[in-house]
Amino acid sequence: MSSSNPALPDRRAQVVAALLARVPAACVLFAPEDTRPYECDGLAAYRQLPMIVTLPTDEAQVLAILAVCRALNVPVVPRGAGTGLSGGALPIHDGVVLSTARMNAIKRVDHLARTAVVQPGVRNLAISEAAAIHGLYYAPDPSSQIACTIGGNVAENAGGVHCLKYGLTIHNVLRVRVATIEGDIVELGGGALDAPGLDLLAVFIGSEGMLGIVVEVTVKLVPKPALAQVIMASFADVVTAGNAVADVIAAGIIPAGLEMMDRTSVRMVEPFVKAGYDLDAAAILLCEADGTALEVAEEISRMSAVLARAGATAITVSQSEAERGRFWSGRKNAFPAAGRISPDYYCMDGTIPRKQLARVLAGIAAMEVTYGLRCSNVFHAGDGNMHPLILFDASVPGEFDRAEAFGAAILALCVEVGGTITGEHGVGMEKIGSMCVQFGRKELDAFFAVKHAFDPCALLNPDKAIPTPHRCAEFGKLHVHHGQVPFPELPRF
Ligand SMILES: Cc1cc2nc3c(=O)[nH]c(=O)nc-3n(C[C@H](O)[C@H](O)[C@H](O)COP(=O)(O)OP(=O)(O)OC[C@H]3O[C@@H](n4cnc5c(N)ncnc54)[C@H](O)[C@@H]3O)c2cc1C
Repeated sequence: MSSSNPALPDRRAQVVAALLARVPAACVLFAPEDTRPYECDGLAAYRQLPMIVTLPTDEAQVLAILAVCRALNVPVVPRGAGTGLSGGALPIHDGVVLSTARMNAIKRVDHLARTAVVQPGVRNLAISEAAAIHGLYYAPDPSSQIACTIGGNVAENAGGVHCLKYGLTIHNVLRVRVATIEGDIVELGGGALDAPGLDLLAVFIGSEGMLGIVVEVTVKLVPKPALAQVIMASFADVVTAGNAVADVIAAGIIPAGLEMMDRTSVRMVEPFVKAGYDLDAAAILLCEADGTALEVAEEISRMSAVLARAGATAITVSQSEAERGRFWSGRKNAFPAAGRISPDYYCMDGTIPRKQLARVLAGIAAMEVTYGLRCSNVFHAGDGNMHPLILFDASVPGEFDRAEAFGAAILALCVEVGGTITGEHGVGMEKIGSMCVQFGRKELDAFFAVKHAFDPCALLNPDKAIPTPHRCAEFGKLHVHHGQVPFPELPRF
């Protein structure tokens, strides 16, 4: 990257010198061999070596780094653990990556208030581990929870298996402390369930690092249920399984988790995890009930009846914690298991109304033929949050382009059936073109206006998540008259 920009070494030296005047040397990486681990996030198909990586250990250092970047007009890419799947933490060649991974202290667990105050680099699972002694846990559980940080979860409004019943990040965060690019510390939300004024906490959660740096988070904790059991139900075709999901919810049941895996996913994960999945099924559903022993028994019985009526060919209920864990381990390891059957995979993330599951799954099956690529489906069915994994081989010329086109077509279908182009992985770089399918120019301009209010110098994660008119024109979703795009003053990315 530096060879394509001869001025970069001078610029890097200038910014490094300014940073070293404000923060310890251990916080600043600039040699390519040190910055290489930060060149991508979980969307490894997109890579860019950053000019500099900074690793602050406290709020004062975050503010100092932001002050330098503001003064020298350097773009800043916030980063947590880098597990994001949409390229949100993808570096910018002449920018600074600001990683909050070293800010990983759990400041307080208040078991009476059922809250925890944590720094942004604390891993999602570490919060539940710290709260376990009080019989409490943090409910949103992305499958990456062993590694991903709460700062990244806030920025992506992360979800997980248990979010159907317990809500997404936005429903489980009370307060966020934010460092702004202008050098202020602001607190959004508060200790109580509501805060005075505009609900800026809701604006901030899911803003993908474009509005400020999360430096502290207060999360809600919930009591660990006394018991949980999971049903594994097999189906002879995905359409019947999709309809069964809608039936469970229509019956007035809110399961603690309701996930679907199709045959391709089951067969890729079973030899790896040995979860005991039905290899003959076209799709399996995992439906969890939690609560007291009585509540669980009643819900398991009701869900079993609904699933049987919907056409399940086999129903197995976990009989121990070990068996429950085994059923879930297959689901939680589905993404890594894709590596066993394909050199590369591309994970999509669209959300649709539940009743459209069967239609969209059938549409994806047809697209496998159109694009000549396999796709496995493993997803949060109860939330209608699809995760098609498009399998491809990047070393075969043209396959990555076809995988990208396949992904864009899936997202367009999600929009067509009344859904959205993302559920929990964010827009980042990956879905920026699809934003032009979902939103009109006026809506996109309103998003830019919100960003401008928080980040007037457009330095925080620029060129991500909100497409410029030029991008929509490139994506073919803007009418360009005589080569004139509206808002020519906006940067071309
Ligand atoms: C195997 C696997 C399974 C996954 N399963 C799920 C799942 O079930 N549910 C789900 O929601 N996601 C899932 N993900 C995606 C990912 O783990 C989440 O998006 C997670 O929230 C990212 O956290 P992170 O710390 O890795 O953030 P990063 O990837 O480092 O960053 C993500 C975004 O947050 C911004 N950001 C990070 N830290 C801060 C901060 N301190 N202040 C401001 N902005 C910040 C970045 O700029 C970027 O835009 C999965 C990923 C993998 C690899």
